[in-house]
Amino acid sequence: MDTKSKELFEAAKRHIPGGVNSPVRAYGSVGRAPRFIASAHGSRIVDVDGNEMIDYVCSWGPGILGHAHPQVIAQVQKACGDGLSFGAPTEKEVRLAELIAELVPSMEVSRLVSSGTEAVMSAIRVARGFTKRDKILKFKGCYHGHSDGLLVKAGSGALTTSVPDSAGVPADYTKNTLVARYNDRASVEALFESNPQEIAAVVVEPVAANMGVVLPAPGFLEFLREITKKYGALLIFDEVITGFRLALGGAQEYYHVTPDMTTLGKIVGGGMPIGAYGGRREIMEMVSPVGPVYQAGTLSGNPIATTAGIGTLEILKADPGIYRRLEKKAGQIAETARRAAGSRVWVNQAGSLISIFFTSEKVTDYETALSSNTAKYARYFGLLLDQGIYTAPSQFEAMFLSDAHTQEEVERTCQVIESALAEVC
Ligand SMILES: *Cc1c(COP(=O)(O)O)cnc(C)c1O
Repeated sequence: MDTKSKELFEAAKRHIPGGVNSPVRAYGSVGRAPRFIASAHGSRIVDVDGNEMIDYVCSWGPGILGHAHPQVIAQVQKACGDGLSFGAPTEKEVRLAELIAELVPSMEVSRLVSSGTEAVMSAIRVARGFTKRDKILKFKGCYHGHSDGLLVKAGSGALTTSVPDSAGVPADYTKNTLVARYNDRASVEALFESNPQEIAAVVVEPVAANMGVVLPAPGFLEFLREITKKYGALLIFDEVITGFRLALGGAQEYYHVTPDMTTLGKIVGGGMPIGAYGGRREIMEMVSPVGPVYQAGTLSGNPIATTAGIGTLEILKADPGIYRRLEKKAGQIAETARRAAGSRVWVNQAGSLISIFFTSEKVTDYETALSSNTAKYARYFGLLLDQGIYTAPSQFEAMFLSDAHTQEEVERTCQVIESALAEVC
């Protein structure tokens, strides 16, 4: 039953492009009408037709504790009573910056913004200001938000020319964006060799989760650390997804590689709009009003959003066992898929992030991710949805686990996945 969702989708399309405020929500690649959500608690999400589903989207990552955690909600409700925004400094911003520095020690100094997009865009501006260089190097298939210079993948096979992915982005805006292949050291070396004094920063998702989940090959992050050092470029980890998810200290703790700068989003706001970027003092003191790099925001450090962020991080900090529990549950799902479909699927898992690719190739980068049969994914997605398992409506997004998913729910999910894979593969 999705009558009300369908009605709302039609109404939405009249005044909102494609009926949604972020494209993937339109279910375009799975041939269904999107579910409009009424509420969510813990691991369960309920749509406007009253369908209750086990949620593995978790708001695309922020919901690591599950939805509407009572402690966080109580703190947010109290904060709302004190006013929604002041445009002036607050104690909560200090507390959140202290917590970030404590949990992610490489972020000695950080700045709060309102989205992951803003965080990465600003970090790159700072890296350019700090190094006095213009070029940046990113990886094909990594997503860093929708700012102009980052909406790029390499033109067909030519790793040195970059064309915008989106209409409306002048080619001039992306001419300083170099694109390498994820997990391919030679492609990175070649770009550094042909631009030795020009690359301000390498920006990377330390575990890629926007081409489906793709793990860094052993030594790849260490290699990026070394080569950036060698050429005087900064290493920026975009931990908007991995931050506080792979480990309390993010992917940099999980893989023991320390970047110069880090960007955060999603979990750091506990479901409210926050992004953050930071690094060591010397770099971050480039930012206005201390330094010459301008960056500002009317709602930056918003008191309600910082309350939700602090509340979430405090709970994670008090319960370090959470990461072992998450990884165990995710491992169970990944193993089930591998057992059920054998070599007809490729499953990547890092911590509580999972992707099942419908390909017999080993998925290690954008090209191999694209080898997945998305029509099969669409059928698999539909079978899960019809049995109350709510997953990402796209092959190229992760499945997210939360601490609220119970063992029984994970087992039920495994059964549904097993039968769906038997039918699709
Ligand atoms: C979600 C995401 C962003 C963008 O964050 P928004 O809050 O959607 O602007 C940037 N980088 C990565 C790795 C992300 O997953």
